[in-house]
Amino acid sequence: MTVKIDENEVFRIIETKSPKVILVNAPGGLLRQTKELMEQVRKRYGVTAILSGDSCFGICDTVDDEVGKLQADLALHIGHNAAVERASEHTYLIDAVDDVEFSGVMETAAKALAPYRRVGLATFSQHLHQLHPVREALEARGFQVRVGKGNNLMLEGQVFGCDFSTAFPIRDEVDAFALLGESEFHAVGLALATGKPTFMLDPYMEEVTDMKEAAEERLKKAILAVYKARDARVFGVITGLKEGQKMLGRSRWISKRLEMSGRKVVQLAMREVTAERLAPHREIEAFVQTACPRISIDGFTFDRPVFSIPQADALVALIEGREMGEFLERAKWIELTVGLIKK
Ligand code: SF4
Repeated sequence: MTVKIDENEVFRIIETKSPKVILVNAPGGLLRQTKELMEQVRKRYGVTAILSGDSCFGICDTVDDEVGKLQADLALHIGHNAAVERASEHTYLIDAVDDVEFSGVMETAAKALAPYRRVGLATFSQHLHQLHPVREALEARGFQVRVGKGNNLMLEGQVFGCDFSTAFPIRDEVDAFALLGESEFHAVGLALATGKPTFMLDPYMEEVTDMKEAAEERLKKAILAVYKARDARVFGVITGLKEGQKMLGRSRWISKRLEMSGRKVVQLAMREVTAERLAPHREIEAFVQTACPRISIDGFTFDRPVFSIPQADALVALIEGREMGEFLERAKWIELTVGLIKK
């Protein structure tokens, strides 16, 4: 398999905007291809390309603020395709697609999905172009297939690790979801957010995984953390500093609710929420972080409860004497602050 960056789009942007210096950021898995592209741009147009060495996990990790600091003319954010051309003022989104096909996994998928006749399809950026071939292959085997509509940020059938707003509205019209691609991260998220049986279709190993066990484990840990923090007196409320994760309003709301219930709140802000960064704050018994929800839902390295927004909502409900409900079953776990400029 090969993941290809849409270099023609990069050339088009450079020819149209004539930048002298560009800033580039990309996820770890695309660094080799990104560096090759930077070299091409340098040779072809004489453009200086600077690669951001900070982490780039998702579409939230854009580098618009750094464009000015580095005296660059624009930024390219690679590999997180979306329904928008620009994620913010200076940052252009550049698609990357994987050329692997799903034909090799369709027989196994049909067997795993046999008890569920109505199947919803979802996937992440690199396999979006495979949704229709997979749909046809499943329909030819007698399944009724649904693909969720795109919206102001996401393309048809697309999911991010924190945003399932294409799949969520069709959850009652399907019996199960199939996530295209080898990503437990996205498949577990889809299972938790929709509350539906979810199967991961891995086109490389040609295997299908039922996500039930992994999703139940995450949910159990998420619930346990809420109960563990119920009696905490001192909370840290962390606002993420990444461009697409600035949830100041939510941080304020949660802080206020905790204070109203007699808890002490220390407000913090940081770019990366890690066990190391939280270690010095010994007096804090539990944290709420309004940045990437997956830090909390998948992060098992913290020595104290560290909540995502949905868990914080559950905690507030519990403290206020209400039911916490199915708190992870929602279309979005945070409202990403990206995607201003339509394609
Ligand atoms: S906030 Fe969302 S898009 Fe950003 S890294 Fe987390 S899951 Fe991915």
